[in-house]
Amino acid sequence: MRLDIITIFPDYFAPLGVSLLGKARQRGDVDVHVHDLRGWAHDRHRTVDDTPYGGGPGMVMKPEPWGEALDAIAPSGSTPRLVVPTPSGRPFTQETAVAYAGEPWLVFACGRYEGIDARVIEDARSRMPVDEVSIGDYVLAGGESAVLVIVEAVTRLLPGVLGNADSVSDDSFAPGRMAALLEGPVYTKPPTWRGREVPPVLMSGNHGAIARWRRDQALRRTAATRPDLIARNTLDDADRSTLAD
Ligand code: SAM
Repeated sequence: MRLDIITIFPDYFAPLGVSLLGKARQRGDVDVHVHDLRGWAHDRHRTVDDTPYGGGPGMVMKPEPWGEALDAIAPSGSTPRLVVPTPSGRPFTQETAVAYAGEPWLVFACGRYEGIDARVIEDARSRMPVDEVSIGDYVLAGGESAVLVIVEAVTRLLPGVLGNADSVSDDSFAPGRMAALLEGPVYTKPPTWRGREVPPVLMSGNHGAIARWRRDQALRRTAATRPDLIARNTLDDADRSTLAD
């Protein structure tokens, strides 16, 4: 997978060299290019922003550097998917992460100030798929931290990035039976710590009982912290009885 990230703060992306993604890059499984938008600004101060038409506070990112950057990174004939983080975008979910993990090439445009001149998105849409995505109902200072979130959620799904591929299918929001469920509590050794016991069923070796316990915990946790998700699950009698407890 190839990732291009356009930003006025390239240093923000140093973390992409560490941990699982850092190793995937060393193996050549993920090819990451971080570009400084100011390289496409031509005045003495390498200006990338200007005052908003219509007035109001703040500044808006100018279209010219963005247009040139996108032309250089994705020349005509190439069709990466352009991902533009913005609070006004569609919610980025695990489903989006799974879809992006199947893409060969993603380009990310990190906004700052009040955002990017809207014509940049319109222009890009005329020649490549463009998604405006939000990572949550709050406002960040810039798109960089949103891109770090998206890149991590996507690249951990790539084959070979996680040590144990099965762990992805047990995660909260994983497509399938976990799609609208939160994972329950997890435990490791020692069996007793500060007087607190690991639930005995997890040490029973009874795989059926363990699977049932895990589903019950996931249902209870979801009902407690994200009741909005429960209705999206197909519940059987055992599930309904767990939730009625
Ligand atoms: N004026 C914009 C609005 O109210 O929608 C907010 C601009 S914000 C200060 C600057 C940049 O941060 C945005 O262009 C976007 O790149 C990024 N950003 C802020 N919040 C975000 C969110 N919830 N999801 C994704 N990106 C976000």
